[in-house]
Amino acid sequence: MSDLKPVATVDELRTRLGRFSRLSLADLPTPLLDCPRLSEALGGPRILVKREDQTGMAFGGNKVREFEYSVAPAVEEGYDVLLHGAASQSNQSRLTAALAARLGLKSVMVGRKDAQSEPVNGNLLLAHLFGAEVHLVEGPEEKEAVIERLKAEGHRVYNTSSDGYYLRGVSYVDGFLELWGQLRERGIRPDALYVCSGLHTHVGLAVGARALGIPMRVVGVSPSPRDNATSNAGLAGAANEVAGLLGLKLSFSAEDFESYGEYAGEAYGVVTPESREALVLAARTEGLVLDPVYTGKAFSGMIDHIRKGQFTKDQAVVFVHTGGTPALFAYADEVLS
Ligand SMILES: *Cc1c(COP(=O)(O)O)cnc(C)c1O
Repeated sequence: MSDLKPVATVDELRTRLGRFSRLSLADLPTPLLDCPRLSEALGGPRILVKREDQTGMAFGGNKVREFEYSVAPAVEEGYDVLLHGAASQSNQSRLTAALAARLGLKSVMVGRKDAQSEPVNGNLLLAHLFGAEVHLVEGPEEKEAVIERLKAEGHRVYNTSSDGYYLRGVSYVDGFLELWGQLRERGIRPDALYVCSGLHTHVGLAVGARALGIPMRVVGVSPSPRDNATSNAGLAGAANEVAGLLGLKLSFSAEDFESYGEYAGEAYGVVTPESREALVLAARTEGLVLDPVYTGKAFSGMIDHIRKGQFTKDQAVVFVHTGGTPALFAYADEVLS
C-alpha cells in the first residue's frame, strides 16, 4: 500500500476538474439513501446507497455522469455519429442512443444477438425508441463492417466505449467529491464503498479517495468472472492514467485495488442465486430496485462480506448504485423463478 498523504484539497481537485470540457446531462447531486431496514435484516453496519441510478436522463445510471466528460470531445470536434455495441441489454447502448437524440446526432447500436435480444424489451426497446439504428450481430467482423460502411458514407463516428476512455474515470473523481461532501455534511465516515466494477467508476472513486488521503476501502465487484490480480493490475494502470489527466502526483499499483470476480457466477449477464437474493432483499426491505447484470451481483458481494462479519454495527458502508435497472424487464423469468 502506498501512503495516504493527501496530494490535493477538495477545492484544488474541483479546480482541476473544472479545466475539462463538460456536457450538462445529469441531475446532480444524486441522492444518498439511508437503508435502516436492510441494515437490520443483515444485522450489519449502517448501509447507505449512493443513487447513481438516479442521474436523470433516460432511466439514469453511471454512464450519464461519465458521458458528461467522455462525450464532450465528440461535440467539440464535430462528430456526427455516436456508436456503441455490447450485450443486447447494454445500458451504455441505451444511453448512447438517448444522448445522441438529445444532441441531435445519429446513433448506431451494434449489439450482440444473445439470450435477451428477443423479445425486444428493457434497454433494447429503449434504444429503438431513441431512434438508434440497431444491428444485432453474431461476431466482431459484422460489427467492423457496420463501422466501415458508416465511415465510407462520410460519417465521423465516435465510439462511446473507446473514445474519451479515461475521461470516464475523471468523471468519477467528480462523483467521489460529490459523495464525500454529502457524507461530511451528515458526519458519516464510511469504512468501505462498494461498487460494481467494470473499470471507470471504481477507478474514479479510488483516485478521488487517494487524492484526498481518505482511508477507506473502495471495493469493486465484477459483473464478469475475472482473476482478481489481473483486474487489480488493470485498475491500477487506468488509475495512473486518470491521475495523470488530472495532474495529480499519485502512483497506483495492483495492491492499491481490491476487487472480486467471484460473485459474477458462470458468466456476464447470467443471474446467480445470490444476486437474485440481493435483488429481492433490496426490493423488500427498502423498495430499492437493483439490476440483474451489474448491481445485483455487486450487492451480493457486499452482503457476503457483511455476513462474514467484516463490519461491526457501528461502522458504515456505502453501496454505489450504478444503475442498469431497465435490464430487469428482460430478465423476468430468471429474477422471479
Ligand atoms: C456500465 C456499468 C457498470 C460499469 O461501469 P464502468 O464505466 O466500468 O465503471 C456498472 N454498473 C452498471 C449498471 C453499468 O451499466
